[in-house]
Amino acid sequence: MRVTSNVEDVRVCPDCDQVNWVSDRASSRCQRCGHFLGGHTLSASHTLALIIAALLLLIPATEMTFVSYSVSGQGQQMTLLDSSRKLLAFHEQWLAIVVLLSVVVLPALFLMASAAVLLWRQRARSRLGRWLVRAIKYIRVWMMADVFLIGALISFIKLAGYASIEFGYGVMAFAGFVTLLLIVVERMKRHPLWPVDENAVEYRPMVGQSARAHQVLGCPVCYAANGSARTECWRCHEPLWTIRFRRTSLTVALLLAASVMLIPAQLLPIMETVALGTTEPQTIIGGVLTLWESGDVPIAIIVFVASLVIPIAKILVLAVLTILAQQDTSKRPQSALLLYRITDWIGRWSMIDIFVVAVLVALVRNGALMSVYPGHAAIAFASTVILTMLAAMSFDTRQFWARKPTE
Ligand SMILES: [Zn+2]
Ligand SMILES: [Zn+2]
Repeated sequence: MRVTSNVEDVRVCPDCDQVNWVSDRASSRCQRCGHFLGGHTLSASHTLALIIAALLLLIPATEMTFVSYSVSGQGQQMTLLDSSRKLLAFHEQWLAIVVLLSVVVLPALFLMASAAVLLWRQRARSRLGRWLVRAIKYIRVWMMADVFLIGALISFIKLAGYASIEFGYGVMAFAGFVTLLLIVVERMKRHPLWPVDENAVEYRPMVGQSARAHQVLGCPVCYAANGSARTECWRCHEPLWTIRFRRTSLTVALLLAASVMLIPAQLLPIMETVALGTTEPQTIIGGVLTLWESGDVPIAIIVFVASLVIPIAKILVLAVLTILAQQDTSKRPQSALLLYRITDWIGRWSMIDIFVVAVLVALVRNGALMSVYPGHAAIAFASTVILTMLAAMSFDTRQFWARKPTE
């Protein structure tokens, strides 16, 4: 199933709008900003084997015991699905849905859609084929199985001070699943899934220049070059946008909403611990201090950075970039893009504390002896993370390079 012919195509960089000439035997990154544009050829059968292995691992990962825990002779155990089931039982429906979707459902859909696309690559032009490849691109952003795994490990360390913890086969299967999922995500970026543009040669003189200067619109999904009159991509049917100069109202609105949600997220308790009959609410910062005082300094720092530093820094950086984009020419577009990419990549790791709560709520259920309940800050905090992710997506980095229309 390996493609051996030398495939050449034109790709417009979605990050900086430069027209690039791509060959599967040459570099397939944007020459201006380094964005990966595809073009490598990989064995589709190897990727399919990895997908099947990952999907098979998901069965024990969700069904078998994730971890068991015992304190004062009383034991509890949880499976992966308990993390959202227990949130549901405590009327945290939205949080339960966020956990279930980001950790299990979306990764499973991503893998199945990827397998379907690889098996029927010849039909990439069909309606379903186009839809599936576009879906893969959007699902990928919202998968957080890796973040959940780190969150689960942190909650086990938190508990290890009070109780004896034993890992089940479920957590091992899940760790294997996460590893395979990350490999498949990287491989899927490298498979040539779209037919080559038959008119690619016409775009060759534009290589190294901005698409906009030639009245060409780049597709954000398949990177195809489109005439400026088109409203959707000829190849994948994705809606096309001209560079969104000064149309920052959506980004600003999302950032404001995220900032507002950050207040209850930090002030209200993210969870409540009932121990020996007394209820103790705990805020995010309270949790960090408890970890620090009990000697788990590295974990305290991780939770502090993920839950407080990253969300605030992300909002501030996006606000600064939005202001920078208002200037007539961005003097250092490469640095601005790098800052954007770091902020965009790091944002999802803020979800760690939400997953810590989900695991603790599912696992620590010893009635009045010791139980953990979700607090109202959890959904507020999850909203902050989701809103900042949406704000980052609404931001158009191509405007760092482009000359403004008023000039
Ligand atoms: Zn680029
Ligand atoms: Zn397209």
